[in-house]
This record gives sequence, structure tokens and C-alpha cells, in this order.
Amino acid sequence: MKNSAISERKNQSISRGVGMTTQIYADRAENSEIWDVEGRRYIDFSSGIAVVNTGHRHPKVIEAVKAQLDRFTHTCHQVVPYESYVRLAERLNGMLPGKFEKKTIFVTTGAEAVENAIKIARNATGRQAVIAFAGGFHGRTFMGMALTGKVVPYKVGFGAMPGDVYHAPFPVPLHGVSVADSLAALDRLFKADVDPARVAAIIIEPVQGEGGFYDAPREFLTALRKLCDQHGMLLIADEVQTGFARTGKMFAMDHHEVAADITTMAKSLAGGFPLAAVTGRAEIMDAPGPGGLGGTYGGSPIGVAAAHAVLDVIEEEKLCDRANTLGARLKQRLQSIRDDVPEIVDIRGLGFMNAVEFNDVKKGLPSAEIANAIRLKALDKGLILLTCGVYGNVIRFLAPITIQDGVMNEALDILESSIREVCA
Ligand code: PMP
Repeated sequence: MKNSAISERKNQSISRGVGMTTQIYADRAENSEIWDVEGRRYIDFSSGIAVVNTGHRHPKVIEAVKAQLDRFTHTCHQVVPYESYVRLAERLNGMLPGKFEKKTIFVTTGAEAVENAIKIARNATGRQAVIAFAGGFHGRTFMGMALTGKVVPYKVGFGAMPGDVYHAPFPVPLHGVSVADSLAALDRLFKADVDPARVAAIIIEPVQGEGGFYDAPREFLTALRKLCDQHGMLLIADEVQTGFARTGKMFAMDHHEVAADITTMAKSLAGGFPLAAVTGRAEIMDAPGPGGLGGTYGGSPIGVAAAHAVLDVIEEEKLCDRANTLGARLKQRLQSIRDDVPEIVDIRGLGFMNAVEFNDVKKGLPSAEIANAIRLKALDKGLILLTCGVYGNVIRFLAPITIQDGVMNEALDILESSIREVCA
């Protein structure tokens, strides 16, 4: 089978609305490597967009899923429940930051987790308005779209968004927005647009993912927590991309002494199986009446079995420490070439959630062209990279945290030669 032949069929049969960053069709995958249908091997620095922090087909995850397949695959937790769902909720309740009683629900995707977090926040507070941040990404459902702080391509042509959603600037000092600027903008929002007494929640990614891998400064999160407490608003942390050891801690909020009232999780929670969760203060999570939350596939036994194995692997293989080691190595390599490559304007990231940002040196402006050219060059050499950012000029690194040292070195060599060739 040829990639090009399948691509032609794809163009005939699949909506172009489903964008694709590569045209290589997967045949099999193992840890940090993917082989395509033509037998070519790639090193995967995308992890299926931050989903396989524990690597493709981790033996423990596969073993747990196989064992579950042999017992039952679907009963619907709302009809015939299962203990593994309850136990996973107990594990997450015990793991998330905040010294208060917590409860959890399971759904299937990150967007659904976000939808439910807002439903719960509105129900618990009896308020309607929600504040999100420019550059943020929260999914492709209607509330997800409304909360997402980027118009193209996420909101264009999709009609009216749910109302009462407001955006404030996310602090990115590199692009001229300080913490003080963001807080001043929130203050203006409360004066000009929405009474804080009507605001149910502020939702924030502790590290913006699709928006460019910018981490929210601790003083900003502390200030948001204070504002929420002052006005009776809830703080929602969207940890869909940042969770499960990616940032060198189990959750990105663990870097700060700030606990969210509600947290959304998905992606690496179940190491490649569709599972998402919402965890929050018990009394808030209990606000909606029976039947108000859930979904046919929410907390699928397969996903739940995988998630138990993922949590075990993160602990047993000390993946938080490993994320810090790998991230330091990646940033060091990028630093070492920075002197020769003035196009690199920033190297950053917590743990193994790292990014490098490129400018057009002559124009002094962000360059999506350079980032994309490097991505394509690396793909040609067998390394799968992703870009991101409001300006599209960021290469983000999301390799499995289980990547072997040899494969990591090989990937770093490809990355370095790709950057040098494009920026020569
Ligand atoms: N929130 C964040 C922070 C995300 O990064 C994403 C996915 N990139 C989502 C929500 C939506 O998740 P899903 O694609 O599983 O619906």
C-alpha cells in the first residue's frame, strides 16, 4: 500500500475539515516509534497530540486492556456499573491538588470534559457567565469553540456560539502581555462587560497547549485564585494537554500552590484509549441532579482499565523525573545551537512540555514559515514534529516520556540538522 494512493482516497472520502499534518498512514507503533504502510520508520515527537505520554502500546497498558476485553467491553456505567470506574475516580480524587473532598465523572473526550466542567460550574453557582483566555484551546464542541480563544480555524463559519463567554488576554511577556496587563484587562472586563457576581467560572490551561506552550506564571494563577474567592467564581484548570507527568509533575497545577475547584483531564489519562474526566470539589460536582451528567460511553471499561495501568506506569517508571531529565536534554541541545541560529527567539517549557519559537530575523516578526519548513524537513528525515501558537511559529515537543535514550539522541540530531538546514 502506498501513502499517496490512500491520500487520494482520503481526499475523495473524508471531509477536508479534518485537517492532517502528515500524509503518512500508520501501520504499527511501539513506544516512541511509528512505522507507516510503506514500512518507513518515524520517531514520534507528537504522541498523537499528547496522548501517549507512556508510549505507544505500553506492555502494561496493552495487558490491562486485553484482560478487560476478555471480561466485558461495555455495560454503560449508568446501567450496570463496574468497580474499576469507582476505583479510578478514587485514585484521581486522591491525586489532584487541593486539600478538600473531591468527586469525579468520566466522559470520553477533552471537549466533553470541558463541556461538563462548565455545566457543573453553572449548576453549582447558579450563574451563567464564563471567562476564558485569548490563545486558549478547549475543544471543538460548541462550548469548547466558544471558550477557545482563536477564531481561525476553530470558529469560522460555525454560526452563533453559546453566549456569556468573555476572553481576557493570557500573560505572555514574550509577546508584550505582562501579568499586570492581564489582570488589568480582567478588571476592565468586570467594569465594562460583565458583573463578576454573574460569573460562574474562569477556565485556564495552566500551560497553553495549542496556543503556544506558554505557562501561566504562578503569580497570575495565585491572583486568579484570589479573584475567584473574592467574587464566588470557580477556577477551572484545563489539564487535558498538561496532565499525567508531561510537565514533570503529575499535573501542571502541582507546580503552583494553587488548587482549581474543577479540573478537566483527557489525552494521556488512558494512554491511547478514549477517556476523559472531570474532578472537582465534592459539593460542586454533586450540584447537578441524577441524570444530568454522563453519556453512553463515558468511562468505558476499556479506557478505565488502560488508565489504571497508565497511572501505575507513571509511578513505577518515575515518569515525572524522566520528563524533567528529557526536557532538560532537549532544551540544552536547542540552547547549544541558538548562537548560530538567530531565528530562535525562545526556548522554554516545564518538564517535557517544551517549545522553541522562531522569528523572521529581517522582519523581527514571528515566522510560521520557518517553523513549518523545519517540521517538514524533520518529517522527511523521519521525525514527526508539531507546530502550534497563535502565530504558528512555535515547534512543540510532545515525545513519549518513555522514549529510549538512543532514540532521543537520534531525534535530537534530526532536529538540529533540520533547524540548521532551514535557517542556514
Ligand atoms: N482542552 C485542551 C487544553 C486541549 O489541548 C484539547 C485538545 N487538544 C482539548 C481540550 C480538546 O480535547 P479533545 O480533542 O479530546 O476533545
